[in-house]
Amino acid sequence: MTLMSREAAALMGTYARQPVEFVAGEGAWLTAADGRTYLDFLSGLAVTSLGHAHPAVTAAVSAQVRRLVHTSNLFYTEPQVELAERLQETLGWSDGRVFFANSGAEANEGALKLARRHGKRQHPDKVGVVALEGSFHGRTLATLAATGNPAKHEPFEPLGGWVTHVGHDDPEALDAAVDDRTSAVIMEAVQGEGGVRVVPDAVWQAARSACDRTGALLIADEVQTGLGRLGAWYGWQQTRASGGRAEPIVPDVVTLAKALANGLPIGAVVARGDASKAFGPGDHATTFGGGPVVCRAAIAVLRTIADEGLVDRARALGAELTARLRALADVSPMVAGVRGRGLLQALLLDRPVAGAVTAAALAHGLVVNAVAPDAVRVAPPLIITDADLDELAARLGAALDDVLAEAS
Ligand SMILES: *Cc1c(COP(=O)(O)O)cnc(C)c1O
Repeated sequence: MTLMSREAAALMGTYARQPVEFVAGEGAWLTAADGRTYLDFLSGLAVTSLGHAHPAVTAAVSAQVRRLVHTSNLFYTEPQVELAERLQETLGWSDGRVFFANSGAEANEGALKLARRHGKRQHPDKVGVVALEGSFHGRTLATLAATGNPAKHEPFEPLGGWVTHVGHDDPEALDAAVDDRTSAVIMEAVQGEGGVRVVPDAVWQAARSACDRTGALLIADEVQTGLGRLGAWYGWQQTRASGGRAEPIVPDVVTLAKALANGLPIGAVVARGDASKAFGPGDHATTFGGGPVVCRAAIAVLRTIADEGLVDRARALGAELTARLRALADVSPMVAGVRGRGLLQALLLDRPVAGAVTAAALAHGLVVNAVAPDAVRVAPPLIITDADLDELAARLGAALDDVLAEAS
């Protein structure tokens, strides 16, 4: 029996998988079971930002696995505290506190519960949430409710009616949606799953002032955008307050997951000021969260990003990536544009063939993904070289040629 038919018989049908079995990886390259190598410009959905099998992560994990894997949060463990301290350094927050979870959805679930706890201290009905259309915040019932995608809601309704969605580029609608009963506004800097759409500064400005006006918390979902991917440690740091001032718009809460442990499961909620004290003992908990192994991995990730200057590198590579993707317009008439920021970008097509282009790219040994019917997401590791960008352009160009040839 093939692996595909065993999978179909043994696993729930939640994933439309590509027909490749990967068995190993190193840096920006993956190796399949048949020995073929693939250039990974997706990083397991913006997760393996340091590339596969990064030696610093491997060493940190192996050493910790030999020492101690799990104790539960009934006891103190040093890696969890060190990671929380380091995260606050990357945020530049001296009054921040962290809760560790196991995934992006769990991080957002924790942030939404934190906002509710914080809101209910002001008024018993201060439990509403305002989120953006096109957003993605996770698949638990609460984070699904916050996710601004009606097609994902429909099979699981009713979801409670406590979330209001407004357009991702409509500051007036956002301002109007936030009132005294709003506990939080949650948003991404760039909507990753929503098609790699940049949320404009005006929307961040409206969110900050609406939260200041009503006592709601501004939650930045940095699960996909955080930790250098956009060419800054965090996407919110690239936002700008109104009036041409140079300062960014600072959220009250930041959620993290994907790249934090370079592939091991971890999530984090970081809150500052009052919000950082909204949970007391028993308000929220997790058995696995903040375990020593994932925390050691995440410490190695943060250290490597800082030591190797990968944030600046992502910014420089991002400009180069935009140029390479734009140049594909000279190769293929289907290329309609490029959007995104840093190393989270999408190649826009003039027709809904992103799935076919992704499949053709795979056949040419390139891993990317169709993030919308007409958009191919490109999210390479932060360690790629110019030679990798040459390969991307060549392989994606060949894939575009194949799809165009099939269509005509
Ligand atoms: C991936 C993602 C999530 C969900 O993370 P999981 O680890 O899959 O639960 C939440 N928010 C954003 C912005 C994401 O990209």
